[in-house]
Order: sequence, then structure tokens, then C-alpha cells
Amino acid sequence: MNVTRRQIVTRGLAGHCPNCGGHALFHAGARFKINERCPDCGMKLDRGDGFFLGPFVINYTVTVAVFIVPVVLLGVLGVIAKLAAVALIVAGAIVIPILLYRRSWSWWLMAYFYFLPQKLPKNHDEQHEDEEE
Ligand SMILES: [Zn+2]
Repeated sequence: MNVTRRQIVTRGLAGHCPNCGGHALFHAGARFKINERCPDCGMKLDRGDGFFLGPFVINYTVTVAVFIVPVVLLGVLGVIAKLAAVALIVAGAIVIPILLYRRSWSWWLMAYFYFLPQKLPKNHDEQHEDEEE
């Protein structure tokens, strides 16, 4: 049965495997270590060769767009003190990427498979997945 783009998005937003909807993208005991493969369906999650850059870009973009830029504007416009803005930016630049780390991985997997749904094992013969890479 094929996985639809709608399922890819809902699973990605929920932080689940885009292929099977499994809940364990990350090692149980390690907050920042993604499983090499989904423990439920065996799909490769860390696809190697710079694939990890996708979550970094998403994490950076969301942190800057949703937190850093608004705080800079508040500081520049005088809504909050400039020193408070700098302190918030420094703290936010450290804390927010840590909090978003896992979510940025699932958002990256969602974006990747949204545009390449044919690469999901459930959308093609699983024997070809490893041959393509
Ligand atoms: Zn899975």
C-alpha cells in the first residue's frame, strides 16, 4: 500500500517515521542520536553523505525566523532593552536548536519524502532502496 504525501506530512509533523508511522526515530537512551534505520520498518533514516545537513538547515532557519529576527526587531524598535535583546538572542541561539533538534529531523524527513515519495520503501520494491544509494 502506497504512502500518500498527506501521510508523509502528518507523520513528519508528529515526529514519526514517514514510511510506517513508527515512533522511534531516535535511540531510546540518546536524545541526539538518530537511529540508522527505523526499528519498525527498517527504512534507512540517516541516509548518509550530508543528509544530516537538512535538519541543521531547518533548525537554523526556524530559530532565526521565529525567534532571533523578532527579538532583534523588538530590541531595535525599543520595545525591550537592547541588553535584554542580546541576552535573549544568546540564550535562544543555544536553547532553541537543542529543543528543535529531534523535530528538525522529522521535518527534514518529511520534506525529503514529500518531494521524493517514490523513495519510501512502501512506495516501491524494498529491494531497490539500498541499490539506489
Ligand atoms: Zn518506519
